[in-house]
Amino acid sequence: MGALSVGLAAPQVSKGDVLASPFQVDKKRIETDILIVGGGTAGVVAAIQAARAGVRTTLIESGSQLGGTTTTGGVSFPGIFHAWGKQIVGGIGWELVMEAVKLNDDILPNFSIIPNNTTIRHWRHQVTVNGALYALIAEEKCVESGLRIHYYESPTAITFEKGKWTVTTVGKGISREIICNQLIDCSGNAAAASIAGFPLLREEDTQPGSFIFRLGGYNFDSLDLTKIPREYHNRLRQNMLIGDEVKVESSVNNFPPTVPYNYVYVHGADSSTAELHTEANLTGRSELLSLIRKLRTFPGCEKLKLIHAQPETAVRETFRIDGLYQLTHEDYVSGKVFEDSLSYSFYPIDLHRNGESIYQEFLKEGVVATIPLRALIPKNSRNFLVAGRCLSSDRLANSALRVQASCMGMGQAAAAAAVLAVRHQVTPADVPLKELKSLLREHGGIVPGA
Ligand SMILES: Cc1cc2nc3c(=O)[nH]c(=O)nc-3n(C[C@H](O)[C@H](O)[C@H](O)COP(=O)(O)OP(=O)(O)OC[C@H]3O[C@@H](n4cnc5c(N)ncnc54)[C@H](O)[C@@H]3O)c2cc1C
Repeated sequence: MGALSVGLAAPQVSKGDVLASPFQVDKKRIETDILIVGGGTAGVVAAIQAARAGVRTTLIESGSQLGGTTTTGGVSFPGIFHAWGKQIVGGIGWELVMEAVKLNDDILPNFSIIPNNTTIRHWRHQVTVNGALYALIAEEKCVESGLRIHYYESPTAITFEKGKWTVTTVGKGISREIICNQLIDCSGNAAAASIAGFPLLREEDTQPGSFIFRLGGYNFDSLDLTKIPREYHNRLRQNMLIGDEVKVESSVNNFPPTVPYNYVYVHGADSSTAELHTEANLTGRSELLSLIRKLRTFPGCEKLKLIHAQPETAVRETFRIDGLYQLTHEDYVSGKVFEDSLSYSFYPIDLHRNGESIYQEFLKEGVVATIPLRALIPKNSRNFLVAGRCLSSDRLANSALRVQASCMGMGQAAAAAAVLAVRHQVTPADVPLKELKSLLREHGGIVPGA
């Protein structure tokens, strides 16, 4: 009886009927004031700033979550927000970071202790966040601010006509035409600038990317290192986490311990096309697999485990725009302040070189670099800005400018400029600087100069 009733109640679908027409791309058209391409480190902050200032804002992101290199790439230790005992990047980026720290009971570094570049390294001032949590908080703040998020979407064509951009995008099962007044490229690779036809900067040699993961299942202190090749010792110490230097520094100077951070370099890693990013991911993942297999052959490491691996290879360097101003190495290390400087950047010059050690140059005491609006605007453009690592800069300056607090500050600055450009119906290069700086300060931004 039971079997009979189940059979009678079985829905039509069990017969394998065709219930829907074959796949077709859904074509949509929307209008917005500001479109942000890329919801990563800079893009999230830009989007929230634009929406909070009251203009219609849309964000497209080719991945499935916000935060970019900070979250999906696994570089979940944004820096540097403080320099020489003072906070230099605040605003929306800092708000997101602080909320992630609080909600995870993480400990902030002791910012009153000033790194001296020898015993206390600059990176002790980076703030460790839980990347997944940061992505959730970023998304919540975007939604609360009223902007529209479109995941899995990328631009394929960008044209400018009669003062408006038309951006054609494709995503899963969708193609959209987005008409906007101002476009902000936060793709990290200057992808939108490239599609729009603006010239880009890039050297033949680029810094390697890193595929980030965590290993466990062994105790470093009880390993017999005489039986393990020296080249693996550091890796087994899980880099910064349990190194003696860090233990001492943490206890003496009251710095929180750093999260475990292990990675394999991926030479030539490039995220500017799906094809190249796929290649970088395949290489990173297969290198990790080989490493795990190798490490498990060492005595004491037989039970070594992969605890976590990021979904994609994090990329350090691809394309930059050629802007109205190109920030130079000299500007950076001298802390030059421009009339249109909108945010700060603080980090050593930090160039990862293929097959060689990292080239680092520390800033002299008291020096903090600044980022002018013109470095965020491609030459010969209208209604177009970039924020993040693809700003206009020479390679050495870029190796420091690319860090996350700087990208967040730029994101907020670019969005504030776009907002005023919408309000005054001008191009971002022509917005009144005084008003721009005061809008930024209103939203917590720390602006160089008086
Ligand atoms: C291995 C590594 C270690 C680092 N170490 C540090 C460190 O210790 N401290 C520090 O502060 N910084 C560090 N950095 C630098 C810093 O993390 C990055 O430079 C910074 O996060 C870049 O921010 P962004 O907003 O420019 O790009 P991203 O954060 O990469 O964001 C770009 C976003 O755009 C999306 N996107 C890309 N193309 C498209 C497209 N065509 N359409 C739609 N969306 C697109 C991406 O999916 C991504 O979400 C490190 C970087 C790497 C790779």
